[in-house]
Amino acid sequence: MRLTVIGTGYLGATHAACMAELGHEVLGVDVDPDKVAALQAGRVPFHEPVLPELLAKHTASGRLRFTTSYEEAAAFGQVHFVCVGTPQRKDSEGADLRYVDSAFASMARHAGEGALLVGKSTVPVGTAQRLADTHAAVEIAWNPEFLREGFAVEDTLRPDRLVLGIGSQRAETLLREVYAPVIGAGTPVVTADFPTAELVKTAANAFLATKISFINAMAEVCEATGGDVSVLAEAIGHDDRIGKKFLRAGVGFGGGCLPKDIRAFAHRADELGVSLAFLREVDAINMRRRDRVVELARELCGGTVLGARVAVLGAAFKPDSDDIRDSPALNVAARLRLDGADVTVYDPEAMDNARKAFPLLGYALSAEEALRGADLVLHLTEWPQFRELAPERARALVSRPRIVDGRGVLDGAKWAAAGWEFRALGRPAPG
Ligand code: NAD
Repeated sequence: MRLTVIGTGYLGATHAACMAELGHEVLGVDVDPDKVAALQAGRVPFHEPVLPELLAKHTASGRLRFTTSYEEAAAFGQVHFVCVGTPQRKDSEGADLRYVDSAFASMARHAGEGALLVGKSTVPVGTAQRLADTHAAVEIAWNPEFLREGFAVEDTLRPDRLVLGIGSQRAETLLREVYAPVIGAGTPVVTADFPTAELVKTAANAFLATKISFINAMAEVCEATGGDVSVLAEAIGHDDRIGKKFLRAGVGFGGGCLPKDIRAFAHRADELGVSLAFLREVDAINMRRRDRVVELARELCGGTVLGARVAVLGAAFKPDSDDIRDSPALNVAARLRLDGADVTVYDPEAMDNARKAFPLLGYALSAEEALRGADLVLHLTEWPQFRELAPERARALVSRPRIVDGRGVLDGAKWAAAGWEFRALGRPAPG
């Protein structure tokens, strides 16, 4: 089939390359000419494992191309996936829908009768129907996306499920044709009306955020009582009804999705007269974990970080990504810098993005360089290489051996045995 993918960021570039991998002819459309030029040259402008190989393969074969022209896109194919951003609005918790509205309007203007515009962006419930009412000449479907950055290709080619929000049999038939190889491999398909399809995505994110904040709230209780949240999480995780995943206490979630999606969901619920007030508490617990790391940093530095050299390990909001949107690591780093600390950040992939967004922080070329002469080390993104740091070797680099494990993955006893003052969230100090 001939498909277009409108908006070629983290989601769209992955979707475009994966659709080419499934055998389709794909045209990616973006308003950012630099992004289009990079992708057309076979270069992924962000870090995502496997995607560079896929992009290179299909741009070389000509099965995947990129353009800034909606006119060209409308003429190219009949099925158009809309993958543009839906960030938080500056003036409220709600989602900023201007990019979605503009992408649908541009495509509807150029597309002929029978074109199917498929929204993949995460939107407040009610958006698909509003767009369908506004652009009656084209057909609209909603196919929310669940991919995780760092596993984006795998998640697109082998998703847990496909959700097809459809208004007609024809839309379902076309989407089933697009995804035929994925469906053929046994992927469950859930068909739904527009509001349900939109809600599946926001409900899934709300559930995951709630699970993370739940264990982080338990970490707060452990901190108040001397309990150990890692033991608690292991013990409750043995219960199949609870499960072990997403139960590691730490500095909390960030990124371009969970924080803005739960805020947008609570905001939309208010508009609908339904209370999702608990999501505001989920958000507040999450933000309090960042405060707690700042507080621990002060405590370990004798009451103030003024003049202290702080090494921050991690800048991306999670490992295997260079995405720094709403990154807990950089949020903590910036706050310590404001408090007068001399902060040096290292991240294996996110340095360029971090430097652009936080030019006043210091940056090192390696974890070792960041650690050299540090009065305090903060482990805030769980890259595997940070987990593998040898406490003895690290001890020889720093000025004062003090570390906060903001991700709950380092072996506290081992670090303490090597002479480190070790603190983790929700756990008593070892020894
Ligand atoms: P992004 O900011 O990386 O990409 C958005 C892209 O859209 C940019 O390249 C931008 O230039 C382009 N764009 C904006 N307006 C446009 C227009 N009118 N026409 C064409 N292109 C336009 O965002 P993202 O992370 O890819 O997220 C996109 C959507 O997917 C959001 O709704 C997000 O919530 C959702 N989502 C993201 C992920 C993820 O892991 N990143 C996962 C699932 C769902």
